[in-house]
Amino acid sequence: MSEKQIVLIAGDGIGEEITNSARTVVDAAFAKAGVNAKWIEKKAGGAAIDAFGEPLPQDTIDACQEADAVLLGAVGGPKWDDVDPSIRPEKAILGLRKALGLFCNLRPVKIYPALREFSPLKPELVEDVDFVIVRELTGGIYFGEREEAQGEGPNEFAWDKETYARYEVERIMDVAVETARKRSGKVVSVDKANVLASSRLWRKIAKEKAEANPDISMDYYYVDNTAMQLVTNPGQFDVLVTTNLFGDILSDEGAVISGSLGLLPSASIGTGTSLYEPIHGSAPDIAGQGIANPLGTILSAAMMCRYSLDLPAVADSIEQAVTAVLDAGYRTGDMYREGFTKVNTQGMTDAVIAHLG
Ligand code: NAD
Repeated sequence: MSEKQIVLIAGDGIGEEITNSARTVVDAAFAKAGVNAKWIEKKAGGAAIDAFGEPLPQDTIDACQEADAVLLGAVGGPKWDDVDPSIRPEKAILGLRKALGLFCNLRPVKIYPALREFSPLKPELVEDVDFVIVRELTGGIYFGEREEAQGEGPNEFAWDKETYARYEVERIMDVAVETARKRSGKVVSVDKANVLASSRLWRKIAKEKAEANPDISMDYYYVDNTAMQLVTNPGQFDVLVTTNLFGDILSDEGAVISGSLGLLPSASIGTGTSLYEPIHGSAPDIAGQGIANPLGTILSAAMMCRYSLDLPAVADSIEQAVTAVLDAGYRTGDMYREGFTKVNTQGMTDAVIAHLG
């Protein structure tokens, strides 16, 4: 029986509840596929501050670097609002990105037919929405040089620098091309090449990659147009690839379109072990009540099976089970409407397991 080593970082707030749920689903899906999961539990975020006085202990980093994949709940919460800024819980996420070389964030946005009514867009606009945003994660303006405000009066100024090196753009384009190859083969590269020099390099390299990969169709959109197209015709997109800053904004726009924060997974991919987590936070307002929606974490675990564990059939079975459960009318509180079957975290977990193919 093959074995996969997965580091499980529950984190804070609802993290424990949702990662437990995903773990149970993965164990059930693995049992059907004849695969064994070796779960290695580690702490990060507020839980690690409480236990060790730091948000990302070296022991957690070492375990992640050695594992096949990392599954994370979420970190942070009001309990740690007043800790020293140098050890804030969010430092754990940035530290993991750095330690694992996670240069790429994959954010699938899919609208389940059963949940169309939750989208703020008209149902006919979101019928075919199923795309992935490939966001560059370790370069650009968030990591560039900056200078805080200086001077006085109307001339007081501050600046931030957007820089992209060829290797950074090439590797993110490669991920976009590979992702599209596993989907319908269409990439839209998003930039602001009519204004920014860094975007002109971005577009030049995107064109080179398009030429080198003739089986992939590549389009080039400006970011302002993309923001509009995402709300007027989101069904046209398959894979969007963009910079750190633009990806940050567009991926939140994508999340809103789907209308269900609790349902969206993500993957961060890089030079070492990849990390999988739902896009929502630690939801301290409902933590410990057993009512959190675990589907975003379960779908993150499905992505983990596909991208890191080489188990695409297990990924398919988990994703199909989630679709079946939603079609059958099961809803956690955040997605509940009258006439549906209201379940808690455990109830949703059991329902997904019961629907595994
Ligand atoms: P949040 O996503 O935690 O919660 C926003 C709202 O959505 C809340 O009402 C919450 O109850 C609800 N919600 C979120 N996930 C849910 C789920 N699975 N099921 C049911 N309802 C759900 O965002 P926030 O309140 O802005 O942040 C709370 C904490 O999480 C903060 O400390 C923030 O820094 C942290 N955070 C962490 C991450 C991460 O670990 N990657 C990401 C975002 C926010």
